[in-house]
Amino acid sequence: MTAPLLLVEGLRKRFGGLCATDDLSLAVRPGELHALIGPNGAGKSTAIAQITGEIRPDAGRILFAGRDITRLPPSRRVRRGLSRTFQIVQLLDEATTLENVALAVQAHQGHSFRFWRDARRDERLRQPARQLLLRAGVEAALWEQRTGDLSAGARKQVELAIALAAAPRLLLLDEPMAGLGPSESRAMTETLRGLKGRLAILLVEHDMEAVFALADRVSVLVDGRCIASGEPAEIRADPAVRAAYLTE
Ligand code: ADP
Ligand code: MG
Repeated sequence: MTAPLLLVEGLRKRFGGLCATDDLSLAVRPGELHALIGPNGAGKSTAIAQITGEIRPDAGRILFAGRDITRLPPSRRVRRGLSRTFQIVQLLDEATTLENVALAVQAHQGHSFRFWRDARRDERLRQPARQLLLRAGVEAALWEQRTGDLSAGARKQVELAIALAAAPRLLLLDEPMAGLGPSESRAMTETLRGLKGRLAILLVEHDMEAVFALADRVSVLVDGRCIASGEPAEIRADPAVRAAYLTE
């Protein structure tokens, strides 16, 4: 078996008396789409935040591409190839779609300042930004619109383009279908299918139709622990998983 790209071992994070992640272990292989599912409050977002470095674990370790990143700040993890999107989309609403992504391209070219004028004019930023928008499935008709005017689905896809600007080896997606209508969810599913294989994806999602259509493997988080991990068919048939989460 190939060595995992991401290996999480014994991750624990306590908030007061509550263990949001409790001895959580997880492995994501290179290039796989790995879904992380589980009920609300299971600790999925907390797990993602520990992997990206926004939350420091109380115990456990995180290995990425064979190296221990447990104590690295988030910016260094991004440079190693870890990128994420948020459950709540964070965009510069007054800027256009293309400007938002051009600014992200600029940020990953190592500029410490963000120059608006360049995001508006510089083709060396705007051309890669267009490529990212295409990969993220954002319609060209939306590229010159203010992101504040976009639908929820389009905003999620712009955020995905921004995450891809970091050229990640592992992309962490926290509920990309949340709040989307059926056609927007289908568009996001198709976009993720198009990305599959080019990079590893850790996908937190409640839309089980999307999860089972996309995932190579699925891990199930309940009360901060991984109770099962395997191929979609195994997970779907697992009685413990069905009792804890899947209720169709
Ligand atoms: P999920 O993403 O699976 O819904 P979360 O990781 O957001 O779950 O939350 C796991 C548990 O930790 C929940 O009970 C939540 O209320 C709690 N929690 C998350 N973040 C904090 C925080 N910053 N302070 C206190 N409790 C938190
Ligand atoms: Mg969450």
